[in-house]
Amino acid sequence: MTDLTRLSLKETRNGLRARQFSSLEVTSAYLEAIKTGNETLNAYICVEEEIARNQAKKSDERLAAGEAGPLEGVPLGIKDLFATRGVHTQAASHILDGFLPEYESTVTANLWNDGAVMLGKLNMDEFAMGSSNETSYFGPVVNPWRPADDDGSGPALVPGGSSGGSASAVSAMLCAGATATDTGGSIRQPAAFCGVVGIKPTYGRCSRWGIVAFASSLDQAGPLTRTVEDNAMMLTSMAGFDSRDSTSADVPVPDFAAAVERGVKGLSIGIPREYRMDGMPGEIETLWKQGIEWLRDEGARIRDISLPHTRYALPAYYIVAPAEASSNLARYDGVKYGLRVAGKSIDEMYELTRAAGFGREVQRRVMIGTYVLSAGYYDAYYKRAQKVRTLIKRDFEQVFADGVDAILTPATPSAAFAIGDAEMAADPVKMYLNDIFTVTVNMAGLPAIAVPAGKDRQGLPLALQLIGRPFDEETLFAGGRVIERSAGLDLAPGKWWQK
Ligand code: GLN
Repeated sequence: MTDLTRLSLKETRNGLRARQFSSLEVTSAYLEAIKTGNETLNAYICVEEEIARNQAKKSDERLAAGEAGPLEGVPLGIKDLFATRGVHTQAASHILDGFLPEYESTVTANLWNDGAVMLGKLNMDEFAMGSSNETSYFGPVVNPWRPADDDGSGPALVPGGSSGGSASAVSAMLCAGATATDTGGSIRQPAAFCGVVGIKPTYGRCSRWGIVAFASSLDQAGPLTRTVEDNAMMLTSMAGFDSRDSTSADVPVPDFAAAVERGVKGLSIGIPREYRMDGMPGEIETLWKQGIEWLRDEGARIRDISLPHTRYALPAYYIVAPAEASSNLARYDGVKYGLRVAGKSIDEMYELTRAAGFGREVQRRVMIGTYVLSAGYYDAYYKRAQKVRTLIKRDFEQVFADGVDAILTPATPSAAFAIGDAEMAADPVKMYLNDIFTVTVNMAGLPAIAVPAGKDRQGLPLALQLIGRPFDEETLFAGGRVIERSAGLDLAPGKWWQK
């Protein structure tokens, strides 16, 4: 029998519907793959064998009865940021030790309603703060890709972050697709590093209800998958209005998969000059040029555009996001959830619990956030960052009003780097620079997709990003598919972890 874990999400769904194999078979194949791979890759924090097999059996019954949902029987991994009823939900933090939610996030509930099967919870940066998955309390995740000339003695690479477990698991075929979240790049940057597809939908497209909050005005859920079409299918299921999230958008959810083969003929694609950074590696420049050619060859009109406030996006993000985080994370006080370290007074208990429960990066964010919101500094930092945010948003509005349909940029300034990279460890700002091409999109609330488009000289995946108009994810899937088809990459990493 063929290896069922190698099938795309769509092939899996179609094979199940045609009764070529059962959900129990494909689910067992994934559970087996996790058993041989997870020790090395550390993508899953918790594997839910019993839940997975039970859900698969129910799916098989529905498939037999001809009552299959859109994702019936398809095994997925879930980022640990999504609340799953009765199942490990810790945002990869020590402070949520033992927390088992009594409710299910809207996004995961949507997936289960459509018949999907849950394999387990995926590793991530603690509270989704990071770009390398090294801030997890559960240890770093390993990228399934290695440099072509690495005989196994070289350092392991990061999968990106914060959705590193999701990207690694999808790439290594430890699930058919995974949920992820993106506050400043956490879907697109790991997608780029692991050679998978990731979309950050328009703010409000997916409900935030039941997702552990990082920076509420920026957080959005989205899928990570191996193909653009799979991505469209999964987003169709995840998205939708939810009255329990006051920022959820009451707009219809199209069948995104129907837009995938639309092409880019006649579309106007903007190339923002501000993204041509000094010191940008030649390989990224070449990749970008290649992407422009592909879209032009398929009938798109290419236009140079300007987004003048781009260079303020990263500094403004690192004020807005920590500010919201410091407020959101105030609830972890040792009283209501998870960890409690006893103290002589209640204040001491708070202090000891938060000191022991939060990792260094989370503590840094809480401190920055508290500082920029404090009485003397609010106007100088937080208020100004909010003004910058408005300007960034306006830059995009102008370009779209001028008739641009989508914007093409690189997804990341580099390929995956080594776990423990000394430069990044010594200087948090170096780590923050990973999101230089992605944060503007969150600041403006726009949708953007990262699609594998090439490989660097070491054979590691590189990706391009397409940014779209609000609620026009369809154009991104269509453009993403053109990039995917034109690139024609083999994106299955060698399964070296099986030896
Ligand atoms: N890397 C960015 C940060 O650390 C973005 C994280 C995210 O999108 N969740 O804040």
